[in-house]
Amino acid sequence: MNMQEYIEEAESALLHTYNRYQIVFDRGEGVYLYDIEGKKYLDFVAGIAVFAFGYHNEEYNDALKAQIDKLIHTSNYYYNVPAVNAARKLKEVSGMDRVFFTNSGAEAIEGAIKAARKYAYLKDGRTDHEIIAMNHSFHGRTMGALSVTGNPKYREAFEPMIGNIRFADLNDMESVRRQVTDKTCAIIMETVQGEGGLVPAGESFLREVKELCEERDILLILDEIQCGMGRTGYMYAWQRYDIRPDIMTTAKALGCGVPVGAFLMTEKVGRNSLAAGDHGTTYGGNPLACAAIEKVLDLFEKNHIIENVREVGPYLEQRLEELKNRCEFITERRGTGLMQGLVFEHSVADIICHALEDGLVLINAGTNIIRFVPPLIVSKENVDEMITILERSIRS
Ligand SMILES: *Cc1c(COP(=O)(O)O)cnc(C)c1O
Repeated sequence: MNMQEYIEEAESALLHTYNRYQIVFDRGEGVYLYDIEGKKYLDFVAGIAVFAFGYHNEEYNDALKAQIDKLIHTSNYYYNVPAVNAARKLKEVSGMDRVFFTNSGAEAIEGAIKAARKYAYLKDGRTDHEIIAMNHSFHGRTMGALSVTGNPKYREAFEPMIGNIRFADLNDMESVRRQVTDKTCAIIMETVQGEGGLVPAGESFLREVKELCEERDILLILDEIQCGMGRTGYMYAWQRYDIRPDIMTTAKALGCGVPVGAFLMTEKVGRNSLAAGDHGTTYGGNPLACAAIEKVLDLFEKNHIIENVREVGPYLEQRLEELKNRCEFITERRGTGLMQGLVFEHSVADIICHALEDGLVLINAGTNIIRFVPPLIVSKENVDEMITILERSIRS
């Protein structure tokens, strides 16, 4: 079948929940993707902040193949070696104490919400606890995750959401204080908002939220699903600051292509929240998924991934700033490290389509922002190549 035939069949078979770009990808090599007609694309999306090492990393692939031949799955009613190793390494790099493995980011959010509610329930036995979430946030598409997602457009048709969620504004401490009541059990936010427009939580804001949480024994949940795993030049974006969340979620680049996520917590929350029978998953933390995590965390260290982000991130930022200054309809550059955005006065859909035709994969965040979340192994030369194609697409 040719590309058009695959697309037509996909449109008749798959539920139309995405307006897909008219490309069928076939394989990848490093920071490049190839479609089934052999056309090459520079990839600045990485499967939405997933493929940290780019495509076809042999060491990663070999580790998965070896695990497939050994043991792919066994129930969480038993122990398995990759899960022990993955948990040890994840604790090390995160500085958190306890791990629960999930199959996706949204499920990690669901678990975090349940842990926070249970923690509060064990304190006072009430069942009307509230969670404060941020406007313009994105935490996933399942009902709990959607309930704390600060975008009414995503929620409306699916109301009622889970109850007792209040919304505040990121980086506006007063707006947070206004939502706090004696029923507040958690405050949840992305350390750097992704879908909502590449907006980092500021240092003083995060510190003040953390202080407020400590004063009132409210749990701080940081969603690191997109901004974590080295993307900002820190393994987890909050590690830049002198704070630690009570609960943290991670996914996307955690498995680098194998569907896996996790929520982690401090020992205190671990001991005083979810217990046997409270939460579970069939697949979560299975040997194949955990072999992926184990190898990913190995490769982060061995291949000096964070160092590369710290070198190329500022360069990407500088080149985007320069581009912004050359184009009057780009109003702002946002973000940090290899998680950047360019804000346009108008919709970016045409620019992204043009770039695709010209061999560059980009993605939006909202209608008027282009998001740059490339593989973490990108080089400065790749950034130059991207800027050249992007500028051509903007001008045409
Ligand atoms: C992608 C994302 C999620 C949801 O993860 P899924 O794996 O798609 O369920 C949650 N939070 C943030 C910040 C994300 O970027």
